Parts: sequence; structure tokens; C-alpha cells
Amino acid sequence: MKSDDILNIATKRGFFFPSGEIYGAKAGFWTYGHLGTIMKHKFENLWRDYFLKLSDNYFEIEDVNILSEDVFKNSGHLKHFSDPLEDEKGNVKQFNMMLEVKVGVTGDEKMYLRPETAQSPYISFKREFMALREKLPMGLAVIGKAFRNEINPRQGFFRLREFTQAELQIFFKEDEFDVNFDEVKNYKLKVMDKDVKCSSLKIPKFYAYHLVKIQQFYLDVLKISKEKFRFRELDKDERAFYNKIHYDIELDMDSLGGFKEVGGLHYRTDYDTKNHKVLVNCNGKNIYPHVLELSFGVDRNIWALMDIFYRKEKERELFLFNKNVAPVEVAVFPLVNKDKIPEKAEEAYNLIKKDFNVFYDCKGSIGKMYRRMDEIGCIAMLTIDHNSLKNNDVTLRDRDSMKQIRV
Ligand code: ATP
Repeated sequence: MKSDDILNIATKRGFFFPSGEIYGAKAGFWTYGHLGTIMKHKFENLWRDYFLKLSDNYFEIEDVNILSEDVFKNSGHLKHFSDPLEDEKGNVKQFNMMLEVKVGVTGDEKMYLRPETAQSPYISFKREFMALREKLPMGLAVIGKAFRNEINPRQGFFRLREFTQAELQIFFKEDEFDVNFDEVKNYKLKVMDKDVKCSSLKIPKFYAYHLVKIQQFYLDVLKISKEKFRFRELDKDERAFYNKIHYDIELDMDSLGGFKEVGGLHYRTDYDTKNHKVLVNCNGKNIYPHVLELSFGVDRNIWALMDIFYRKEKERELFLFNKNVAPVEVAVFPLVNKDKIPEKAEEAYNLIKKDFNVFYDCKGSIGKMYRRMDEIGCIAMLTIDHNSLKNNDVTLRDRDSMKQIRV
């Protein structure tokens, strides 16, 4: 099965593995190994560069993971953040997924691990609004941990109890969110299996604009093919009661049996600012800002990249990562460990490591070294041999075609 193949490489090569394995791992908790950590950082940086640059009034903040009970009383989580759970007798109960933390010497002070990063911008809004000269729209992003006591975290790496979200909360005055709609109006959005012209959707322009920007992130930055990407609109019964418009971002993953949610675009109206009593003065009027939320699960996106770029060929397994996401971009090998060839290989390694993520390997046969690099999605491999000493050149092997040239 594809999920087993991916997990096998992920755990063997250092992408990710169950946390605390040596003591018997707990379901839903995973460690990123050295490759997974690079890939996760690359994803987070791509996300930052792309979404924060949508406006010069969008910024990133960082908050703690443990927040007070009052935050979640007012946000509605203590009441509503639950999933149905069936007991042995077949009765269905609501199970609250919040994880509680006892704080202080007596342990009387109840706090909670945040189940989403979103509450942090809401409760920080007032301060940032003042610091940023009281302009709307204003965006506050958080890339950070979220915690949910998921009932069934057994779907491998996809449903976790501790995970990372990248979320951008955009605050705006109702009916006053100008975007450059002309730029996107003819763009074809992929909604389920159809290409739909952006301007033909019966949704506000600011919302349609952000759908386009999200799709462009997946297609142009992450280089995911259009066939593997889609939006799915959630109807009234499916979406949270406070979301006025909700489209999920879905990617097609064979390992999970088809299209699965990796993020979403949510128009939350003034639900959150009213809950937290975030009333601000905007151009002489007291208002509760409305919120557009762009929400992404980082780990789910990492799994999706592993799934979508995985290939199994007759003699090898590989990931067709592009340089935006590949944890290792170039590998350098000496063909043999003698005759000053390792020294020449190290010279090449030192030359290029300033500009690329480079891996140096001299243990084992060249064929095996190539296979190992294929398995981690390394894009180019340089081999140094006797001729390199004379001609100052290398053999360059392309991962995808396995073609080799001398340069
Ligand atoms: P699902 O329906 O799959 O449980 P959700 O609709 O509850 O997800 P949101 O609350 O909208 O998810 O969270 C936003 C994003 O955070 C999701 O799109 C997903 O990528 C990620 N996410 C949510 N729950 C988990 C989890 N348990 N493990 C990993 N990522 C998650």
C-alpha cells in the first residue's frame, strides 16, 4: 500500500516517525526527523513569503500554546468543540476535544492547550491594531502548534493530537475589503471537478480573490498539478454555524483514498471579535471587525507532498520534489575513497553548500548512494572520479531521468 511505502521511507530516512517509540509510541504524536524538519521549515517559509506579502498590513505574531479558560469559554470551544463518540451500548455522546492543563502550585488554575492558532490573533487584535496605526484590513498570522484530543488519531500522520497550523486572520470592516479583483476575475478556479471562472461565482469579491491566491499557491509555488487540487464548498449543515462561507482546500492523496482536506478559507463574520468583546474605533465608528480566515494544516500538507510526489519504479522508489520543498537539493559523492578523490569531492561540496542544501556521502557503492538520494527526493547528484582530477569536472546525475552528463 502506498501509505506503507511512504511511511517506510519516512521513518527509515528521517522524515518523521512516531514520537517516543522506545517507550511505546502514543497514537497521534510524531517526531520530525532531520529531513522532515527541513521540509517543514521550507513549507512554512513558502507560506510566510507568499501569504504575508498579499498586503503590506499583514504580519506574523507568535503566542504561547497554553491559554486561560476564559479564552475558550468566550470562544465557544468549551461548549462546542466536540465530536460524537459512541459507547459500547450504542449511545452517542459529545466528546470535548480540548486538552486541559493544571497550572500553579495547587493545580487549581485551569488552562487549556489551544486547539487552533486562531484565538491568539483575536485576543491580541486590539494591541496590534493600535501599534499598526489603526488600519483595516489588517492581517495577523500564526504558524504554531495546536492540540486536540482526537478520538481516532490512527490515520497515520494525517490526524494528529499535536500538530502545526499556519493561519492568517484578516480583520476588516464589513463591506469594506477592497482587493484587486481585475487581476483575478478571469482566473479559472477548480471547484470540485469543474473549472469555474472566478467572476462567475456568487460570492463576495474579497472571498473569490483569496480562493484564487490559495489555488495559485498550490499550483505555482508548491507545483501541485491541477488534477490533484480542488476546492469544496461546505453547505450550511456541514460548516460551523459561525462560518458564513466555507470552502475546504482538498488534495488528492492515493494513500488516503482520494481528496482530503488540508486547509480552508472561512468567512467567520464578527463572531470572534464579538465573543472576545473586541470593539474598536475605526474612522470615528465603533465596530466589531469581521474576519476572513486562511487556515492550513502544515503536517497534512507535508503528508500530501510526500503522497503526491512519490513514485515507485521497477528498481527504485523516489520523490519528485522540486527545489522549493526538497529537503536535500544536491548530493556529492567521491567515486572511490582513494587517490585524492575524496579531497576533490570535499572541495566541490564546500563550493556549493553555501547556495544549496547539500549532502556528502562516501559510504557504499555509487548505485546504493544514488538510490538513497532518490528516496529522499534529492534533485541532483555530483560524482567525482579520476577524470575530475584532470579536467576539473564532475558527473551530474538527474534524479528523474537518471541521465548523466559531465560538466
Ligand atoms: P477535520 O474535519 O479533518 O477534523 P477540521 O475541519 O476540524 O478538520 P479545522 O478546525 O478547520 O479542521 O482546522 C484547520 C486545518 O488544521 C485543517 O484543514 C487541517 O489541515 C488541520 N488539522 C485539523 N485537525 C488536525 C489534526 N487532528 N491533525 C492534523 N491536522 C489537523
